[in-house]
Amino acid sequence: DLAYLNGKIMPIGKATVPIEDRGYQFGDGIYEFVASYAGRLFMLEEHLDRLERSMGELTFDAIAREDIKKAILELFEQSGYPRAGIYIQISRGVAPRNHAFSRGMSPQFVMTIRAVKELPKSLRENGARAITVKDLRWGRCDIKSVQLVPNCLAKQKALDAGCDDAIFVSDQNVVREGTSSNLFIVSDGRLITHPLTHNILPGITRLAILGICHSAGIEVQESFFGIEELYGADEVFLTGTITEVLPIVRIDDKPIGDAAVGPITRRLYALLREKALADTPA
Ligand code: PLP
Repeated sequence: DLAYLNGKIMPIGKATVPIEDRGYQFGDGIYEFVASYAGRLFMLEEHLDRLERSMGELTFDAIAREDIKKAILELFEQSGYPRAGIYIQISRGVAPRNHAFSRGMSPQFVMTIRAVKELPKSLRENGARAITVKDLRWGRCDIKSVQLVPNCLAKQKALDAGCDDAIFVSDQNVVREGTSSNLFIVSDGRLITHPLTHNILPGITRLAILGICHSAGIEVQESFFGIEELYGADEVFLTGTITEVLPIVRIDDKPIGDAAVGPITRRLYALLREKALADTPA
């Protein structure tokens, strides 16, 4: 497994960052996670779009998109993994600890690459269980910031409860997303997912699913819905780069539909895999 550290590729264990990295001290950093299928990175340009947007929203000094892309491709090639997961993190830079920051800092650019650890087959076939949790995150969840403590606590709470993931619900009873995934419900044959606001991450897999539904003539509505609609849905699934399309069959110990993987979820998973593999060279 390899790491990339400001222009150099090395074994992960050899890569270290200075303790005054603002990403380390303030969570003043952003990240991306890209995966490959059969030797080709899936939706890389869309991930680069989001990375640039995250940096822009936090007013980081820019790193050229082409330089970032070149480094990603170099690390990917050097790894030799056909099915790789690349974690990319950029922090504002290194400086003596001070909440205020100066302009003209050099962002710290680090990556790790590993072979993707696929989710257990049984989870995909039988469906996952989730709990709902209060959304304690900040008001800019659209930025892919490294500040993930509420997500980590929610995920751990789900595991401690014998479940697989947690779903964030706002104080006003709006169902947002998973701890590292977006959420869709199926109701009367149509999909509903939270609209793109400051309260959810604009997922690349979410985007892929919207495109797939458009091509397949499956109706999707981007609108708000509450916990009653979540419990009452025919199907519920999560989307994410590693999650892909993951069925949720029980939420807060209540069955969703007949507590089995539904036909639309199954179809969308197949279509997503097909798209990911179609993007690869013969
Ligand atoms: N929502 C959150 C909070 C996430 O952390 C992630 C991915 O890490 C997603 C959604 C899914 O995004 P993507 O499909 O780009 O992996």
